[in-house]
Amino acid sequence: MENKDKVVVVTGAGAGIGAATSKKFLDNGFKVVLSDLKVSNVEPVAESYDKDQYLLLAADVSDEDAVKNLVSKTIERFGKIDVLVNNAGVYGESEFTEGTTDEWNKLLGVDLNSVYFTSREIIPHLKDTKGCIVNVSSLSGLGGEDGHPIYNAVKGGVTNLTRSLAVNYGKFGIRVNAVCPTFVNTLLTKEMLKNEHTVKKVLDRIPLNRIAEPEDIAKAIYFLASDEASFISGVNLPVDGAVNASSGHPLNV
Ligand code: ADP
Repeated sequence: MENKDKVVVVTGAGAGIGAATSKKFLDNGFKVVLSDLKVSNVEPVAESYDKDQYLLLAADVSDEDAVKNLVSKTIERFGKIDVLVNNAGVYGESEFTEGTTDEWNKLLGVDLNSVYFTSREIIPHLKDTKGCIVNVSSLSGLGGEDGHPIYNAVKGGVTNLTRSLAVNYGKFGIRVNAVCPTFVNTLLTKEMLKNEHTVKKVLDRIPLNRIAEPEDIAKAIYFLASDEASFISGVNLPVDGAVNASSGHPLNV
């Protein structure tokens, strides 16, 4: 099937990884549903493309009714879904014992409930197309980190939901994978990476010695969604410049 006949839904498409991923699919001729909290977030991402190629939708993916609406509007416009990219996410929490239940619920809602809602609503459509899901998990979903227990917990949930959905829906020809980035040059990390000391600390842990660009992650998402990855499912792929290849011991001591 040609790319122009395939429909991709991207959540959190207004910035960073989601915007770069949407452009990657648009550049390759796919039909793309760009969804974010507000339509005005995604308008600049799509503006240079043909209107026939995309649909802009507002959806807070932590709200299941909003997700149901996102899916029905997509089907109304394009008639099917081939690829779901679960990218919308938030980050940031207090020291664990000083945190609030609201903080816990916010990260759980946007980073994990969202993946449950979209997958639950879209898998029936992926059965028709033998489509696939690519989740944007995180290196934080593969281990523990000082300062991020809640993010570790919710992204760990995304990591294992990825495996489980791959196991559950493989029999329908549906593939489910995730990418696990480390620091990416996005709004999410912009504030954090203003400080030179922090940048040095981060780079010390990244053997490829640079911060990833959103396009680095978009390329991996595009690969996992493509036929080039036709027998890859249930994988949580680190896209991290070899951070995860380290034993964890301090470098060069
Ligand atoms: P990253 O690219 O690393 O995922 P960004 O902060 O650059 O991080 O982008 C995250 C995107 O997700 C933003 O466009 C933001 O508006 C969107 N987003 C955040 N929360 C929600 C939500 N509840 N529903 C939909 N989109 C969201």
